[in-house]
Amino acid sequence: MYIEYKDYKIQEIKNGPLQNNTYIVIKDGSAVVIDPASRVINDEILRQNLHVEAVLLTHGHFDHIKGVAPFLAGGVGVYIHEADNPKCNGNVIGNRLVQFRIEPFNATDFVEDNDVLELLGLEFKVIHTPGHSVGSVCYVLGDVIFSGDTIFDQSYGRYDFEDGSLSQLKNSIINKVFELEGEYKILSGHGNSTTMSRERKGNMILWS
Ligand SMILES: [Zn+2]
Ligand SMILES: [Zn+2]
Repeated sequence: MYIEYKDYKIQEIKNGPLQNNTYIVIKDGSAVVIDPASRVINDEILRQNLHVEAVLLTHGHFDHIKGVAPFLAGGVGVYIHEADNPKCNGNVIGNRLVQFRIEPFNATDFVEDNDVLELLGLEFKVIHTPGHSVGSVCYVLGDVIFSGDTIFDQSYGRYDFEDGSLSQLKNSIINKVFELEGEYKILSGHGNSTTMSRERKGNMILWS
């Protein structure tokens, strides 16, 4: 599935162990990959002969990082919030890298709240949204929010992991994401895409 804009497009690919949504932002033969969930993503990049400028991770859970290795091996920068990097290098309670056969790695770049990443000549704004994990972030590009496992269609991510917190998740969604002005498409890490107006009205976090 593609969402087309004037000078770039966003490709959505379902892949990986938990049917994740990976997104590839494509502009002029270059790309930014968000949450590569399996090696299928690198295959797709090669098929389209794209130059990858960066891999952006919304958080460090195994199902969102299983496809990172070939990009790192190719010298591509991998971005994550520092608080979720230990999930990638295995230095964390509940390390699941071995179980899911992921080679431990460190991200090359750490993002923080309000960072603006200039990639592909576009601006990716970072919102730190802890709750599903302590280092979860959303990336905002134009009128799109890549929400990872923070917001789903009418729902929200689990908060029962070691570093999860319902009160933080609620604060992140209601006081940070919903505070952005205007309408957005919300592209989640799993399931259907949704919109800001639909979630401001009906997301279950409002009654949690
Ligand atoms: Zn997750
Ligand atoms: Zn997930």
